[in-house]
Amino acid sequence: MPDCIGDEKLLKKTKEENRILVKQAEEKIKKAAQAFKSGQAPREGLSFLSHMAGLFGQRLWFSHKTKHYSDKLKISSEKCVGCGVCIKLCPMGNLSVENQMAVHHNRCTMCYRCICHCPHQAITLLGDTLHEQCRIENYL
Ligand code: SF4
Ligand code: SF4
Repeated sequence: MPDCIGDEKLLKKTKEENRILVKQAEEKIKKAAQAFKSGQAPREGLSFLSHMAGLFGQRLWFSHKTKHYSDKLKISSEKCVGCGVCIKLCPMGNLSVENQMAVHHNRCTMCYRCICHCPHQAITLLGDTLHEQCRIENYL
């Protein structure tokens, strides 16, 4: 997966690293599609060990992090023009426009969609400066 956290340099992959990841993902998708067509669905990641690795390596850690950051979205009053693009994109219904400016309602799950698509780069979360709006088209 390419990363989507563009406001924290330490967590940011380079564009080249993300391009390589996307290329590798394309190959995996092709192989999986061929496996499905031949009647042998891929079972990668479905074993008990894989579930445990996912639970202890990612889910426990990130569910805690997500709760911690649910109310930490920062929307710049200088940059936001109240266009509403972010509202349509948020899967949590976390954003609305009040007095021609976006506001959030403490339900953020850190998906970074609004941050990566705001036309005025008005939103940040982990960091304070947006270094890159990470969108898949940047890495194709
Ligand atoms: S997309 Fe950006 S400029 Fe538009 S309302 Fe949301 S935060 Fe404001
Ligand atoms: S990061 Fe995702 S969940 Fe959080 S406010 Fe933006 S779109 Fe909604």
